[in-house]
Amino acid sequence: MRLSLRRSSRAEDRFEAWITESHQKWVLAGGTTPVGACPDEAFLRDLARKSRRIKLSDPRVDHAATCPTCLNQLLGFRQEIRSRRRKSAVVGLVTACLVIAAVIAVVRYGVQRQSPASNMAIISETVNLWDVGTFRGAQPSQLQSVSLPAARVKLKIILPRFSPPGQYLVAVTRDQSGNGVMAEGSAAALASGDKEAVAVDLDLRKAKSGQYFLSTTHEQDQASYYYLVRIN
Ligand SMILES: [Zn+2]
Repeated sequence: MRLSLRRSSRAEDRFEAWITESHQKWVLAGGTTPVGACPDEAFLRDLARKSRRIKLSDPRVDHAATCPTCLNQLLGFRQEIRSRRRKSAVVGLVTACLVIAAVIAVVRYGVQRQSPASNMAIISETVNLWDVGTFRGAQPSQLQSVSLPAARVKLKIILPRFSPPGQYLVAVTRDQSGNGVMAEGSAAALASGDKEAVAVDLDLRKAKSGQYFLSTTHEQDQASYYYLVRIN
């Protein structure tokens, strides 16, 4: 319904444009006899602008519509107005783009200021579990001296004695059941001297300071070992 209405109105617009064009051609070719004297330029400019000051009953309107000289001027003024409008639209668009670019720049600058370099830096930490006994399902091993910063951490874990080689999943969790994962990473254990070590990147920037669990899970036996760790 709406679509057919729109289509018919578009057809009407085309038809009216065609009538206007034909009329203009006819007038410009001298096919009409204008009545009265030519109005001044100010009046024609107002008419071109479709100013409200002009009443269609004004005899000068009839004249301008039938006088080739006036119509020519009128069409020239219309062209001027149209190109001026187009220009101001372009200027408006450019201004809008500049404002958007400025806003983006200000926001970016603000974000950069809010996040100091220390927040972006990756801090290397090593956790040595070599001499820590692992407990499966029992009390987690307390790592007295181990604390990690609330930052992006490149964590190297020296795995407990007798740890098998292979892929390990390392996670920092809120509880001992592996819930509330703050960060995790997976890597293959690499020989570090006579010990096995695994290195992962952990993003702990969102962690509030407190007690957490550091877990290692061997991908084959799926057994997780938990260790208490503090995040500062
Ligand atoms: Zn005239």
